[in-house]
Amino acid sequence: MKKKYFLFVFALAIAWLFISPAVFAQYEKTEESGDKLAYVKQQPYETVKVTTPAGKVVKNVILMIGDGMGLTQVSTAWVANHGNLNIDNFPVIGLKRTYAANKLITDSGAAGTALATGKKTNYHSVGVDTAGNSIPSLTDLASEKGLSTAVVVTCNLSDATPSAFCASNKDRDNEEEIAADYLNCNVDYIFGGGRNQFYKRKDGRNLFKEMEAKGYQVCFTWEETAKIETGKVFSVLDDGQLPLYPERGEVFKDATLHALSLLSGSEKGFFAMFEGSRIDDCGHWHDIPALINEMADFDQTIGRVLQWAEKDGETLVIVLADHETGGLTLLGGDISKGEVKGHYSTGSHSGIHVPVYAWGPGAEEFAGIYENTDIFNKIAGLLKLK
Ligand SMILES: [Zn+2]
Repeated sequence: MKKKYFLFVFALAIAWLFISPAVFAQYEKTEESGDKLAYVKQQPYETVKVTTPAGKVVKNVILMIGDGMGLTQVSTAWVANHGNLNIDNFPVIGLKRTYAANKLITDSGAAGTALATGKKTNYHSVGVDTAGNSIPSLTDLASEKGLSTAVVVTCNLSDATPSAFCASNKDRDNEEEIAADYLNCNVDYIFGGGRNQFYKRKDGRNLFKEMEAKGYQVCFTWEETAKIETGKVFSVLDDGQLPLYPERGEVFKDATLHALSLLSGSEKGFFAMFEGSRIDDCGHWHDIPALINEMADFDQTIGRVLQWAEKDGETLVIVLADHETGGLTLLGGDISKGEVKGHYSTGSHSGIHVPVYAWGPGAEEFAGIYENTDIFNKIAGLLKLK
């Protein structure tokens, strides 16, 4: 009997040797499908711990937007990074309603316009009210008051979120018209993708030449951009949007830190908007591994920004989403392995409240439950823009 038992266990062990690669291979395969199950083997990245400066007043505001980054996207990133995020540093949390003027489920155009201008507008509108009138954004108002400004994104500059800050149009799809609005936006540091809308145009204009005539240093590579130590920057690194992380490299972090170093000389302070634009795409595609990569780049950038702000002492940092994308649910996983199991419920956006994280002087203003338009009101109030 003993010998039989031994043989049985031995046979089981041999069988497991053949079965186990299949079990693990299944995980590998599901990572590719991305829809309902993802297994992430990547090593977790290091996070930072920062101390909130006490007793200072707000001189600068950094608004970091994770496009489509609902609470589940943040939770998913947290599990995938083995239970640590730079976002964990934020002491003040709020919840923000996201609906548009004419629709419960917003797009990034109406959502970005609410953040940038303090007005709810129609689905697909950017930088205009519901009647189609152009309305000033935080970057317009800050620049009029003598503050420096920056807009750094990983999508096309003519895409919805940057357009809400830099352009005015009833329809976000009029990307060539939107691109032309950059000539009048006066933002000091502009970085993103989407060259085509600036020079392969139906009207034959080359907006890069026109931006140069306006005093911008126009760059098409990161190497050129990084050399700039002063003056206005217009850096467009790709014909379309920038590739997904990690394929695009560290340019989002680098451009964010570069913008901060150029803006920090501003006597009256600055307002900067940095967007992790492509978190939204992952929701539309139902791609959890891509989401984890995009969230890693965004959260690592948050860590770098917080370290910068800790040294500066007079900078308020706000991290939020314009809306949630994909109706993502976190269904299981393992924190110690960085394993995530999730499920998407829509190919579009969802209508839930999204989190607002605030750190630094003035942060306490962002506690509570409020409208997306209140983000504008709070920032404009703290920077005395109104
Ligand atoms: Zn979207």
